[in-house]
Amino acid sequence: MSLFLITGGLGYIGSHTCVSLMSHGNDVLVVDSLVNSKKSNLKKIKKAVEFSKKGRAGKLFFYEGDLRDQVLLDLIFEKQIVLNQPIEAVIHFAGLKSVEESVSEPLKYWEVNINSTLNLLSTMKKFNCSTLVFSSSATIYRPLKDQKLFEDSFKYPINPYGNTKLTIERILEDVFASNKDFWKIINLRYFNPVGAHSSGILGEDQKGRAINLFPVLEDVVNGKLDKVLIFGNDWPTEDGTCIRDFIHIMDLSEAHFAALKFLKKNDPQFNSINIGTGKGCSVLEIIKIYSKINKIPIPYEFAKRRKGDAPYLVADNRLAIKLLEWKPLNNIEDICIDSFRFLRSKFK
Ligand code: NAD
Repeated sequence: MSLFLITGGLGYIGSHTCVSLMSHGNDVLVVDSLVNSKKSNLKKIKKAVEFSKKGRAGKLFFYEGDLRDQVLLDLIFEKQIVLNQPIEAVIHFAGLKSVEESVSEPLKYWEVNINSTLNLLSTMKKFNCSTLVFSSSATIYRPLKDQKLFEDSFKYPINPYGNTKLTIERILEDVFASNKDFWKIINLRYFNPVGAHSSGILGEDQKGRAINLFPVLEDVVNGKLDKVLIFGNDWPTEDGTCIRDFIHIMDLSEAHFAALKFLKKNDPQFNSINIGTGKGCSVLEIIKIYSKINKIPIPYEFAKRRKGDAPYLVADNRLAIKLLEWKPLNNIEDICIDSFRFLRSKFK
């Protein structure tokens, strides 16, 4: 029975990944400060695992705490050694993720994201834990006009959030270089994670104002907003709106399980891997699909382009498919159906 430490495991991607790992029979230990998530997700994770497990499900353990607290991290690793169930690997989700906020509060983003990671790495080294999967992002790339991004594409983040992600990747590269016979590290570079668990129990339920497309769609459905604003209809794309690579949250979660499996059976290494579907869908297209498939009107309006947006952000995902033996199983329709199911479940 493996035990994985999931930092930020009560957040959107972390909670769904806990469901994947536990459904595959692994125990997970979550550390989360709850700065952007709710403790009630613990119950939801367990219920979603009940819904989707095939055999014996793993257990869920939780520590409320901040990764910047080195004493806490040391204590968690030490306790697991005493209990004779050491932490086998870590998935590092914890961090701040709002591009908008990072522009107005860069110091906060550098302080939280970098110090959390440095502490985690020091503790892992101290307790001989060598396997790490890090949540990186497509925001580290300089977008190309109409070509897919592959792992070697030019890196050029255009906001403090993206800068912290690329810096962490570089820290990890240096750490790996310091002991290439020890560290097993994968940066997963996510494109646009969306959707919810198919049970309707778990989904994106962040604190604060909706910024991303799906939380905004939900706010329109539940009447908090009267329309979706689409930023720009004059981009060089077929319908003039931006094209993104929307990936179902459960496909993304399974990619983490695949990454851990891959690292377990292979020698120490450092790898960066895109996680996307490899298919683009425009913002207008997705709004229309969501509206049609869920039989619900979604009013929208075109607004001016947003600074920092790019017309086309789609992954070349061939490395993930080849190396991790993983592939996305859900399409845009599944994403829209599962998101809507989660939204309705909130009102039951
Ligand atoms: P999220 O905000 O829902 O989850 C992050 C979790 O980390 C939250 O539960 C938060 O409370 C916790 N946290 C933050 N700082 C912490 C700290 N110092 N110590 C302990 N816990 C802390 O975000 P998410 O969408 O689940 O994203 C997870 C990771 O994936 C983040 O690192 C994010 O940057 C990255 N990522 C997300 C997206 C996306 O579109 N959601 C895309 C690319 C990369």
